[in-house]
Parts: sequence; C-alpha cells; structure tokens
Amino acid sequence: MSIVLAIVVPCYNEEEVLPETNRRLLDVLGRMQADGRVSPDSRIHYVDDGSKDGTWALIESLAAADRRSRGIKLSRNRGHQAALLAGLLTVEGDALVSIDADLQDDVTVIEAMVREHSAGAEVVYGVRESRQTDTAFKRQTALTYYRVMKTMGVDLVHNHADFRLLGRRSVEALREYGEVNMFLRGIVPLIGYKAATVKYDRTERFAGVSKYPLRKMLTFALEGMTSLSIVPLRLITLLGLVVSALSFAMIIFILYGTLVLNAVIPGWASSVVPIYFLGGIQLLSIGILGEYVAKIYLETKRRPRFFIEKTL
Ligand code: UDP
Ligand code: MG
Repeated sequence: MSIVLAIVVPCYNEEEVLPETNRRLLDVLGRMQADGRVSPDSRIHYVDDGSKDGTWALIESLAAADRRSRGIKLSRNRGHQAALLAGLLTVEGDALVSIDADLQDDVTVIEAMVREHSAGAEVVYGVRESRQTDTAFKRQTALTYYRVMKTMGVDLVHNHADFRLLGRRSVEALREYGEVNMFLRGIVPLIGYKAATVKYDRTERFAGVSKYPLRKMLTFALEGMTSLSIVPLRLITLLGLVVSALSFAMIIFILYGTLVLNAVIPGWASSVVPIYFLGGIQLLSIGILGEYVAKIYLETKRRPRFFIEKTL
C-alpha cells in the first residue's frame, strides 16, 4: 500500500504564479503516482488566505481541471502560519508536505522527502543549501537571528523555512499544541520523532512580489522569540542584579570619598548620568515585560485560529 501524500500550499494574492505552481506540482505528483510511490488519492491543497486578487477563482478552475488539485478558502487573511496550520489540520493523508506558492522552493525535492519518509523519517526538513538569491541584508539578519535564538535555547533547523514533510503522527502531535499564534518552525522540532533533512537551492520568486515586507518579517521574528523563549525575561533580572551591584559599589565609593577623603566635588554629571542610564534600562525592561504580557493577553483569549469558508 503506497502512502497518501497531501501537498499544502498557502496562497495570498498568488494569481501570477499559481498556474505554473500547479503545473509543476502536478508533474511531480504524476511522476510519483505513475510508479506507485504515492497513492492515486494524493492531492494538492491550495489554502487561499483571504486573497484580494483572483486567486480563489483560479483555484476553482484548477480544481475543475484536475481532481488532484483541491482548495480551502479561509474566511479572511490570517497570515502565512495560520494558513499553513489550517491546511495541515484539515487535510487527509499519511504524509503532508507544506510548500510556498511562489516556487522559491524546488518542487522536485518533494520526491526526496517522500523517499526519506518511506525510509522511516517522521519529519523531513527542506534545508536551503545556498541563499544566493536572498539579499545580503536578509542573509545576515537571518544568520544573526538563528544565533540569537540558539543562545536563548531555541532549537531551529538552520536555513529551513516552512518547506517540510510531516508524517500523520507529527501532524496529530501538532494538533496538541494549543497556542493561537503558532511559530511552526520552532514547534516542529519540539515534537521529536525521527527527523531527516534534504538539501536544495532556493531560487527567486517565480512571479509576483514578496508577501513578507520587512515589518511583517520583524513581527514574525519577535513572535518566534517570545513564543519559544523566556530568556529575555531572565536577562532583565540579570541586568537588574548587575546594576544593583554596581550602584552598591558606587555608594561605598561615594561614602568613602565623603567621609574619609573629604573630597567630593558637587557634580552635575555624576547625578544626571545615572538617571538617564537607569531610566533607559527601566523603560527597556518594561518594554520586554510588555511583550510577554501582550502575549499572555492574546493567548488567554483562546480565539479561534482560522475559519474555513469553503473547501473544494
Ligand atoms: N502567504 C500567506 N498569507 C500571508 C502572506 C503570505 O498565505 O498573509 C503565503 C504566500 O502566498 C506564499 C508564502 O506564504 O505562498 C510565503 O510568502 P512569500 O513568498 O511572499 O514570503 P518570502 O518568501 O518573501 O519570505
Ligand atoms: Mg517566497
């Protein structure tokens, strides 16, 4: 019995690339179905994340043209992670592959992922071999981010985005994670089970523009940090301790100067500088606390993560 493969593709305003994406995915799927590596019941599921262009109409026509192409329409735009999750938690299949719509990830790598899965891997990560097509800025910020997250004890797979295969067991495990705002690439490694990686070269977006402007990227990075690590909170405590110790040393020093040496010049700088310095540290600390309070605020509401309007 060959496995039922489901390919989940989140799409937000992707009408320019979707026909080509569908052609290439059907091609790969067809090849694997032809020699029985995956079952004839395998499907491609396009999750329309509240697109404002003709993406849904296009998905409908793709579904009409080939029964292997299916669609899930969300009630509105909920963002990449929510769209992915909506797909993963609703579709059927023994192995679920998630891939972006823009063809930056090499679709033929799906075959390698299925091979690894058949060989026993429960999770298969697609890992970018080179990031030549990314801007130097994106490369550098990504590298720094991985480093920072690592020191905070968060286990991220290097150069892996959301191109991965999840076996049924890990999808069911994923369902158990209750957070409303899910940072998938941080959660999946926490599930455990046997994992493998496959390498590929990431290319330019086939058409259209990135749906991740810098602002969204920063939010996403912060989201990953606050949902997976409490190290920033600990750092505040540490900082508080260090500053307190320094202040204590300062008091001794001043007392010594006043009482023993009798040589303290009334100084403006020495009184104003600590005020600015401590004020800055306090505001920063309150800000970090605020990030986590905001997180608690958002998560305790237990709001639903997505609504599905229609499925094809
Ligand atoms: N996407 C989505 N909802 C959003 C933003 C993006 O479903 O609100 C999808 C988008 O259609 C694409 C994937 O997420 O399939 C990754 O987006 P993009 O390629 O624009 O990001 P980048 O590769 O530039 O980081
Ligand atoms: Mg992209």
